[in-house]
Amino acid sequence: TEKILSRVKSKDPFFSLEFFPPRTEQGAANLIGRFDRMRQGGPLFVDITWHPAGDPGGDKITSSTKIAGTVLNYCSLDTMLHMTCVKQTEETIKKNLEKTKNLGIRNILALRGDADENWGITEGGFNYGVDLVRFIKKEYGDYFSICVAGYPNGHPDSTSYQEDLLHLKEKIDAGGEFVITQLFFTADEFLTFVKDCREIGITCPIIPGIFPIQTNRSLVQLTKLSKLTIPEEIQKVIEPIKDNDAAIRKYGIDLATDMCRSLLNSGEVHGLHMYTLNLEAATIQILKNLGLWCQDVAKTLPWKTSGNPERRE
Ligand code: FAD
Repeated sequence: TEKILSRVKSKDPFFSLEFFPPRTEQGAANLIGRFDRMRQGGPLFVDITWHPAGDPGGDKITSSTKIAGTVLNYCSLDTMLHMTCVKQTEETIKKNLEKTKNLGIRNILALRGDADENWGITEGGFNYGVDLVRFIKKEYGDYFSICVAGYPNGHPDSTSYQEDLLHLKEKIDAGGEFVITQLFFTADEFLTFVKDCREIGITCPIIPGIFPIQTNRSLVQLTKLSKLTIPEEIQKVIEPIKDNDAAIRKYGIDLATDMCRSLLNSGEVHGLHMYTLNLEAATIQILKNLGLWCQDVAKTLPWKTSGNPERRE
């Protein structure tokens, strides 16, 4: 098992793939097949999201820790586990970190998680992503590589873009070693963000989070969740084709390919983090268009897998 940081820091082109834990056991089985197929493209790492309401550190086959452990130990893919801290006790967080360590996982994306209206600040408790970064450092030293989240358009709860940048710097100063960003819609948004980060002394790698538009429904859902606005020029294209999934997917692939090409050509970016939404066709096509998808990098898993690549669960 590896800490992925050294390869993130090297200038070699790479991509990483984000998945969420499936809801059902059948979904988990399908996802393993997907990891196998996607492994063949040579991702630098796979990461698994954390959903506090859904048994994330539990024993169910569909929990985030179980899925992340499977990716690492059965699929032999380097793995990063997301972990949130808000509204959770120190005891639970420690238990989850121990479990993560015991599974051999060395990479954590440390997050606050979504706070609701009833959330109040606890003095000395876990209120922000930085509190989890500090806790991991205090308890585990350098055992884990710590990644943190960055927001090219500012986090929606922050009072200003500039203030949010300073809070990002706090996470880096506390031990965050690289950043993955929230989705964004134009290369300029990301490149401006990187420039602003560099200006306040954030020098670590910043990996753009790429969200290929795949359906109108998931686009609306995700932008709502992230409190982002879909740019007018994108809305204009999507509106007349919004019920035609194939047309939207093709548009999403072309749009993401163009944006990624601009990012890679800027010289600032040599790695892409793909929000797969647990689907593979669009992500693979974009990576192939960019020449980042390597054939025959790894052997397939020892067991035969079959499955519909576009079935979610
Ligand atoms: P923080 O860094 O804690 O910041 C949150 C807000 O508080 C910001 O507005 C910031 O400016 C402000 N702030 C920070 N520090 C301070 C301080 N000391 N004083 C005052 N204000 C402060 N959510 C999940 O539930 N599971 C996941 O797996 C998951 N994965 C994600 C992956 C990525 C790449 C991204 C970008 C987001 C992910 N999220 C996930 C969503 C994330 O949990 C939310 O966006 C959450 O609201 C913020 O978490 P954070 O750690 O990024 O924020």
